[in-house]
Amino acid sequence: MNVLVCGGAGYIGSHMVAELIENGHDVVVFDNLQKGHKEALLGGKFYKGDLRDRQALHRVFNENKIDAVIDFAADSLVGESVQEPVKYFENNIGSTVNLLGAMKEHGVKYIVFSSTAAVYGEPENIPIVEEDKTFPTNPYGESKLAVEKILKWCDNAYGIKYTALRYFNAAGAHISGKIGEHHNPETHLIPIILQVALKKREKIMVFGDDYDTKDGTCIRDYIHVSDLANAHLLALERLMSGNDSKIYNLGNGKGFSVKEVIETARNVTGKEIKAEIAARRAGDPAVLVASSDKAKSELGWKPKYDSLETIIETAWIWHKNHPYGYC
Ligand code: UDP
Repeated sequence: MNVLVCGGAGYIGSHMVAELIENGHDVVVFDNLQKGHKEALLGGKFYKGDLRDRQALHRVFNENKIDAVIDFAADSLVGESVQEPVKYFENNIGSTVNLLGAMKEHGVKYIVFSSTAAVYGEPENIPIVEEDKTFPTNPYGESKLAVEKILKWCDNAYGIKYTALRYFNAAGAHISGKIGEHHNPETHLIPIILQVALKKREKIMVFGDDYDTKDGTCIRDYIHVSDLANAHLLALERLMSGNDSKIYNLGNGKGFSVKEVIETARNVTGKEIKAEIAARRAGDPAVLVASSDKAKSELGWKPKYDSLETIIETAWIWHKNHPYGYC
């Protein structure tokens, strides 16, 4: 099939492009390169453009016979979203609405949408299941939840079938070592820890050690980026064989505290990795751990790189060999 990957030059998007190519599919990438990197593309036909630019989007659909769309294009920083909610609502909601408009006009009926664990806010139960209450504690999660609702109405009105995948913490790098995580500025835990290991930073700041968790630091469910990409492909195949729109969590079902992640990285890298306790970061829930049973049973999804050591090892190979990312 020919898949349009919006935001395909970003961290998760580029691993999706790799997964599609490895499985023999054709890929069209649409990315504004604000945060993505053209060097991250292991193939596919590339268009530089912004989803808010309707003309650019129509050109892509006019010039290519698109069978399905995967949408990663979004701003995704919890802390920034608390400071700049309008940016998040404008970009994350506006972009996907335009994309859905173009899909409707060009008769494209399938979309896999990247949603987030942040839709749940402070969870009531751990592990979190898809039916749990959604009550985002930050505008990023709110923007993704809004799009999930918009998708439902577009399915209702236009028959556009969707799968929304609520990811927990994407981490790691492609097994080839060719692509990995490069954000500027970097805000995510594992890449920052590895930058400390590479002596590009002096220390890692631990955002809060007074949470109600075993060691006081936040607990997250880290999931390998290639396992995430594989779940998107399975979701697309399931939709295209006539199944209904669905929402799935994607995580490993195991939570690790910030301190445990730092300790594991010390073991993997053999480096000291200095850490210092700092204030809590706005919008951070204490614990986010997924139940992915539904994705496993309905999509037949089996994560391949499901230990934290392996996830950090793949990230470490990427960071060691690309200390300045794609620069
Ligand atoms: N974190 C931290 N120091 C950092 C970056 C992140 O203590 O420099 C914590 C953050 O508060 C959260 C966890 O690490 O509890 C994962 O954060 P990240 O930004 O990687 O992902 P998020 O959970 O925001 O999607």
